[in-house]
Amino acid sequence: MTRHDPHSYADLEQGKISHIDFRIQADFEAHILKIRAEYQLAELVSGSLYLDTSQIELESAHANGQALQWEFDEQDQLLGERLHLKGLANASSFTLTFATAPEARALQWLPAVQTAGGEHPFLFSQCQAIHARSVFPCQDTPSVRFTFTAEVEVPAALTAVMAAEQFEVKEQGKNKVFQFKMPQPIPSYLFAIGVGNLTFRELGPRTGVYAEPELIDAAAWEFAENEEKIVQAEKLLGPYLWGRYDLLILPPSFPYGGMENPRVTFLTPTAILGTRGQTSLITHELAHAWTGNLVTNATWEDFWLNEGWTTYAETRITEVLEGKDVADLMAVYDEQRLIEIMERIGMESPLTCLKVPSKGRDPDASFTIVPYYKGAFLIKEFEYTVGRERFNAFIRKYTSTYQFQSLTTEAFLHFLKGELPEVFEKVNIQSWIYEPGLPVKRSKPQSALYDEVQEVLVAYKVGTRPTKEQVADWHRYQILSFLQALPKQIPVEDCKYLEDVLDLKNKNDANHYAFFYAICIRSGHQDILPRVEEFLGKNGRLLYVLPIFRAMIESDWARERARRILESVRERHHQITVHVINKLLKEAGL
Ligand SMILES: [Zn+2]
Repeated sequence: MTRHDPHSYADLEQGKISHIDFRIQADFEAHILKIRAEYQLAELVSGSLYLDTSQIELESAHANGQALQWEFDEQDQLLGERLHLKGLANASSFTLTFATAPEARALQWLPAVQTAGGEHPFLFSQCQAIHARSVFPCQDTPSVRFTFTAEVEVPAALTAVMAAEQFEVKEQGKNKVFQFKMPQPIPSYLFAIGVGNLTFRELGPRTGVYAEPELIDAAAWEFAENEEKIVQAEKLLGPYLWGRYDLLILPPSFPYGGMENPRVTFLTPTAILGTRGQTSLITHELAHAWTGNLVTNATWEDFWLNEGWTTYAETRITEVLEGKDVADLMAVYDEQRLIEIMERIGMESPLTCLKVPSKGRDPDASFTIVPYYKGAFLIKEFEYTVGRERFNAFIRKYTSTYQFQSLTTEAFLHFLKGELPEVFEKVNIQSWIYEPGLPVKRSKPQSALYDEVQEVLVAYKVGTRPTKEQVADWHRYQILSFLQALPKQIPVEDCKYLEDVLDLKNKNDANHYAFFYAICIRSGHQDILPRVEEFLGKNGRLLYVLPIFRAMIESDWARERARRILESVRERHHQITVHVINKLLKEAGL
């Protein structure tokens, strides 16, 4: 057999799935989805077909009106179970009926108490990287794309949202059936479903937001400028090909900032600040509509193609929307973060390469910001080498040439060599992509706003605390830069002073607090623990939760309490979050 992707059992020589018609019933009592799926194949298939699954309860398999033989014939803790369909005979399609497991990795079933409204349950999926297989048997590799339709039956009080176009809603007894279609081919990791007590608010001609009624006003205000973001993104990246761009505001246990599900970004509620201060997150998720969703990494080893390009596009769009000063500030902040994270992982670790050999590695557990920032800095080097104008033309050609396709790092480099050969003379691409750490020879971002922060930091380190006046007008990223560059341990009195002078309570920004609490813990600010515990119970975003658990592990006084805190908040979090933190604690011997 030929395996193309270290994270999938699929053998693409056997044939590829090209379309799926789903009939899905959501059972909120049993926490399972009952599904009948009719698969179309891109070519006639005879013999065997291997599909990825994880904890799928398969009831039946048919092709050409005949029952198919099948077995789960290989299994692996990371990859799940290989479903081996046998005896296909010139099949152009096949049908499976099955149910998901209550603990399916991709699905989180939240009881009503964990929602904003508190009266209705909530279900949402997170299929990236390799969890679609826990929702439906598939070739769970980003190199296979398919279109789909779906009928989703849910209790009548709830609304189903999918990363697809909704075209009809029908009453059916005590239930409602929502109908969707996805005419653009997607890789399996972009399959997405959310069900809850949701309302919808139109924001612009192509934009809107789904949220629980309690959050809809705040969400609609926060993200009112999304249409403008699409306009600017189109100027950089080409026409937006997915029709609408909506948001679905998820409960706080969502493990990520956003998930770029096509047509509808799934978003953490921590992005609603009441200041429009974190809409660069939307810029990022929106940019994925081109870099990631339209042009897709062929395997998770090529993840930097998705995230590096998207982070680069985010900075370009931010420059137009918020000005060069802010874009420069973010670039320096990103560089500092990148260096800090690389030092933590180890500058020589293969995880600091852009192309990460990942056979046997769990993409969730080895997730870092390296492909984002190091990738974006490499792409900036390309831009600096050929100039913005030529590079803009290259971007448009790249997104149009590879639209609705998946490509490897090597295929990308081949294309780059054909279009911008001089880049290979000036930039050490080999070192950037295949070697760990950061090349010494590279452009270093500069920012006047960051230099302001530096001055205050230098003064603090020799004993002068910042005044309210000095920091009153600071941009969100200036505060983040300050917190990130503070010494790891400071006097407990200073923790209290800085929270006050930076006005963190009123700003109510979970990202600030993720840094701040980590500093407090390392500094031995023991009284802060109940607040930390409350924060960890309310926020499931890995980017915020992980630094706090790391600080606990590294601090003698808090170390032994980390496990108890994880157990106390476990029920409220997504399985991905629990899995990653659990692994971190285990590695620390806790
Ligand atoms: Zn991203």
